[in-house]
Amino acid sequence: MTSMSPTITPWLREILRCPVGGHELVDAIGPDGTPELQCSQDCGDGVRRAYRVENGIPVLLVQESREFGVES
Ligand SMILES: [Zn+2]
Repeated sequence: MTSMSPTITPWLREILRCPVGGHELVDAIGPDGTPELQCSQDCGDGVRRAYRVENGIPVLLVQESREFGVES
């Protein structure tokens, strides 16, 4: 283990919540190959969102998020 871990530490991820739906976020890799945090469930408006992680710091801004559909 190094101090430059690209992933988010578990204790930090546990307290992170989606700013829209207030639910937990899960680690994922985005379509461009970069790490991101994805909604664990529907945000309440029919979509999930993915928040990018920059240098291990999640960017939990709705306007910066990527929306992706929920399988119906
Ligand atoms: Zn959400």
